[in-house]
Parts: sequence; C-alpha cells; structure tokens
Amino acid sequence: MGPRARTLLTAVNGTTVVGLVVALAGGAKIRRGRDGVLIGENYRRRVPPATCFTVGSVIMCRRSAEWLLAEERSALFGHECHHRGQYAVLGPLFWPAYWAACGWSYTATGSWGTRNFFEKRAGLHAGGYPTDLPLRPWVQKVRGRAASGPPTPPPGSPSAD
Ligand SMILES: [Zn+2]
Repeated sequence: MGPRARTLLTAVNGTTVVGLVVALAGGAKIRRGRDGVLIGENYRRRVPPATCFTVGSVIMCRRSAEWLLAEERSALFGHECHHRGQYAVLGPLFWPAYWAACGWSYTATGSWGTRNFFEKRAGLHAGGYPTDLPLRPWVQKVRGRAASGPPTPPPGSPSAD
C-alpha cells in the first residue's frame, strides 16, 4: 500500500480526523510531514508518556516536526508511519485491537510493546521497546502445558541418557 492510499484510507475511515482532534486537544501545532503524514508538534499532554504516537495519519510528537523529520530519527518516523498503515487497514478497529495487544504484552512480559503484535510489526527497537524480555514464569508454565510433548530442558540440565 502506497503513502497516498494510506492518506486516503485514514481520511475516509475517520482516524485522521480523530488524530487532528487529539493534536489540538494536546496543544500541538499541525505541520506537514512527509508522504502525506501530518505532525502534531509540541504535543503537551502527559498521556500517553511516549515521545511520539500516531492516530490516523497524524503523528503526535513532544518535540518539533524538524526533530522528528531529521535523518537520524528516520527509524522512529518509519515506525510511526507503520502504525499509520495499520490505521489505514483497520480504521477505528485499530484501537480495541491495539489495546488488547497491549494487555497481552503487559500481562506476558511487563512491557506494553514487547509482545504487542502491532509494535512488533512496526519494529520494537525503532519504537523504543525492549526486544528481549522473557515471558513471565506463569505464562511460560501455561504455554508449556498447552504445548504438546515434554518441555525443553533448560540449557545446562543433565540429559536423560
Ligand atoms: Zn509504536
């Protein structure tokens, strides 16, 4: 899907309008970004705590548009643009799906992003999420029980033969 299709779809499915409202409510100034992306710069609300977050084709940023568009931030910009593609596909369904994914990730690892399908697709490292958090012990246990066959012994355990 090209950038123009994403711009069009997020406009039609209403998520960009919501993004503009969120930006204005957060005291942000709307600036033109790249590829039809808008940037709500100097977003001032304390929630959410992230430096950047995306709603429709609008990327909210606590810093200036220039800061986000700088070459050294291209991975972060790409990460947020990936979320825009998710909004283009899912429309308003993005929100319940994303929060469910956050809930699962937090339950399993204590991080909102590490096991979050949407953040994994957008790139954990670029989004500032830890990539190597283990599952919480009880989740490992439940998953071990659900899987067929004996659990794999941890490295260093004596072998059966
Ligand atoms: Zn993200």
